[in-house]
Amino acid sequence: MFKVNDNYLKLPGSYLFSTIAKKVNAFTAANPQAEIIRLGIGDVTQPIAPAVIEALHKAVDEQSTTEGFKGYAPDLGYAFLRETIAKNDYEAYGCDIAADEIFVSDGAKSDSANIQEIFSLDNKIAVCDPVYPVYVDSNVMAGRTGTYDPKSETWSDVIYMPCTAENNFCPELPKETPDIIYLCFPNNPTGEAITKEQLQVWVDYANKAGAVIIYDAAYKAYITEKDIPVSIYQCEGAKTCAIELCSFSKTAGFTGLRLAYTVIPKELKCGDVQLHALWARRHGTKYNGAPYIIQRAGEAVYSEAGKAQIAEQIAYYHKNASYIFNGLKEAGYTVAGGVNSPYVWLKTPEQMNSWEFFDYLLEKANVVGTPGSGFGPSGEGYFRLTAFGTYENTVKAIDRIKKL
Ligand code: PLP
Repeated sequence: MFKVNDNYLKLPGSYLFSTIAKKVNAFTAANPQAEIIRLGIGDVTQPIAPAVIEALHKAVDEQSTTEGFKGYAPDLGYAFLRETIAKNDYEAYGCDIAADEIFVSDGAKSDSANIQEIFSLDNKIAVCDPVYPVYVDSNVMAGRTGTYDPKSETWSDVIYMPCTAENNFCPELPKETPDIIYLCFPNNPTGEAITKEQLQVWVDYANKAGAVIIYDAAYKAYITEKDIPVSIYQCEGAKTCAIELCSFSKTAGFTGLRLAYTVIPKELKCGDVQLHALWARRHGTKYNGAPYIIQRAGEAVYSEAGKAQIAEQIAYYHKNASYIFNGLKEAGYTVAGGVNSPYVWLKTPEQMNSWEFFDYLLEKANVVGTPGSGFGPSGEGYFRLTAFGTYENTVKAIDRIKKL
C-alpha cells in the first residue's frame, strides 16, 4: 500500500489566498450588486511593455523557420540572458557576479520553495515574522520544521524573527543560531526595506555563524531611496554566504509569462562542496529550462526602450502606493511601507484583528486586502494593501476607506 508524504498533512489550513478567494466568492454571491475592488493578491495589472512584446513576437516567428527553431533550452538558461543580467543587474551596481553564477528559471516562487532541497534536513531555518508563506511551507513539506502549535501558529523547529513597529520592521539577529536565514527586502508583506549598512550586519553575522542567507529581492525594482541595496552582493563578503532570488514578475509584469533567476556564487561553499554545483545538478535533473521566447522577452527588459517603458510602469505603481499611503494616513491609520515597495502595511484600527478588519473592509467598502496574520503571528493586527491595481480603482478604494 502506498503512503503519502505525511509532512504535507502537517500543513495547517488552506493557502492564504484560497481562503481569501472563498470569502470574497461567498460575499459576491450574497451581494451580486457590490463592485469589489481587489487590492489583495500581489498580481500586476499593467500590460507587458511594447519592447518586450516586440521581442516575444520576433522569438515566436523564429520558431517557424528551420534556422530559428529552438528545442529544449539549456537548463541553466541561455547565455544571452545570463550575460545581460550579469551586466545590468550586477556589474552596473559594482557587484562581481559572473553570468554562469546566474540560474534562469520560471519563477522565484518555485526557486524559493525548491532551494531548501540542497540543504540537510537537520538544518534550522530562521524567517522574518511576518513572512512570504512559501519559505516556511516548503520546509514543512520537506520535514524540516518540527511540530506545529496551532495556538501560537508557530513551528517548533523554526526560528521566528519578529518584524514589528518597534524594530521598524527590520529583524534583529536571532538569539539561537540558525543554519539557513531567509530575508526578503524590500519586504513582502510589510513593504519596508533594509539599508546597506543593516544588511551588512546580516552578511557579517552569517559568515561568522557559518549560516547561509537566502535573499529574496523580488521587489528590488521598487527601491527609490539611495541607501537601500538592490542586491545583497553590494555588501562585502556576501559571496561566501548568500544566495539571491530575483524575479521578472514584479519588475516587468511577467507574473503570467514566468521568468526569474537565482544567483549562487561559486565561492559559497559548505566545506569543499560548492552550493553552485548542487543547484546546477538539481536544475539539470529536475528542470528543462525556461522557454526561449520568454528568455528573449526577459532580455528585452534590459534594452534601452524596455528600461524606459518599465520605469514608467513602476512609476505608475509607485503613484498608487503613495495614494494608498497618504490617503490612509489622512484617515488616521498608522501605515508603513509603500516607499521602496508596492505594498502598504497598515495597523488595523480599534483593536480589530486582521481577519475582522478583512471582513469589515469587504462589507463596508467592498475592498479586498490581505490579513497580516496570514503571514505569521507578528502580522496579527496588521493588513496589507497592494499598489498593483489600476490607478482609478486604487483611488476609488482608498476614497471609500476614508469615508468609513
Ligand atoms: N518572492 C516574493 C517575496 C513574492 O512576494 C513573490 C510573489 O508574490 C514571489 C517571490 C514569486 O515570484 P514569481 O512570480 O517569480 O514566482
